[in-house]
Amino acid sequence: MLSDPEKKARYDQYGTVDFDGSGFGSGGFGGFDFGDMGGFGDIFESFFGGGGGSSRRRNGPVKGADIEYTLNLTFEEAIFGVEKEITINRNENCEECHGSGAKPGTSPKTCPTCNGSGQVRVQRQTPLGSFVSTSTCSTCGGKGTVVDSPCSSCSGRGKTRKTRKITINVPAGVDTGNVMPLRGQGEHGSNDGPPGDLYVRINVAKSKHFDRRGNDIYIDTHISMGKAALGVEITVPTVDGDVKYTIPAGTQSGTMFRLKGKGVPKVHSSARGDQYVKVIVDIPKTLTSKQKEALEAFMEACGESVDGEITHKKKGFKDIFK
Ligand SMILES: [Zn+2]
Ligand SMILES: [Zn+2]
Repeated sequence: MLSDPEKKARYDQYGTVDFDGSGFGSGGFGGFDFGDMGGFGDIFESFFGGGGGSSRRRNGPVKGADIEYTLNLTFEEAIFGVEKEITINRNENCEECHGSGAKPGTSPKTCPTCNGSGQVRVQRQTPLGSFVSTSTCSTCGGKGTVVDSPCSSCSGRGKTRKTRKITINVPAGVDTGNVMPLRGQGEHGSNDGPPGDLYVRINVAKSKHFDRRGNDIYIDTHISMGKAALGVEITVPTVDGDVKYTIPAGTQSGTMFRLKGKGVPKVHSSARGDQYVKVIVDIPKTLTSKQKEALEAFMEACGESVDGEITHKKKGFKDIFK
């Protein structure tokens, strides 16, 4: 279990997708939203602490531990959203004894060693004098209560390990590193404390075709130099399917075209990023003699001298300054 500042720092680092609850249709999430209340210890202490000081804290309600789960999504699932059923194991209050650990019909009694405080005072003699410190009561393990007849279902632990299936509605547009907090879906608390939270960390697979950067998608498309010069209609794959796009005559290699709104939706928004298509003009690496002739004819039409400037072996110092 992470202490709160550590946890906060970790999730801040990745950026939590801010879910307002609308994404959680089927799981009954949102029933426990303790997120903004800060430290539970403080809240419960203000109810139960009543001047008892730190000695009362140990056997007060304790929030259950958080659970982390990594959810792997395909590229398309992350873009369009998906409903996923995940399976988690968590400690829940035993159904037989309702978390008390005592055999049904009996109840836990106040620990005789610590009188229910969960802590014992230890006096130490040192050369500098005697010091009093407190430590966790070993009889009750800090709970403040002991059980004479343990519940047979949980062996007196009060908790049982359960496997639960949870349905998660992943909104469109999530990305690797996003974390979905599901309040109250973590481990059950102790001494009537609230349950912890379930943090679902999103991990999105790479696509073979598309390069996603935030809400934009990038793709390279190769065309021949003839088509680049003359212009051509090409078919461009997008996450919505193929679209036609007309490359204008005279397009240079490296030119980037934008397909507006063909990118990734922003989470909980109708806005979408764009898709960028980078045109790469392929220069032929080998030429047949027919192609070579045609290119030489093309060069002559451009007023370029084939012999003088192209064929390097014939070019001498004088030729350059002709
Ligand atoms: Zn039990
Ligand atoms: Zn005790």
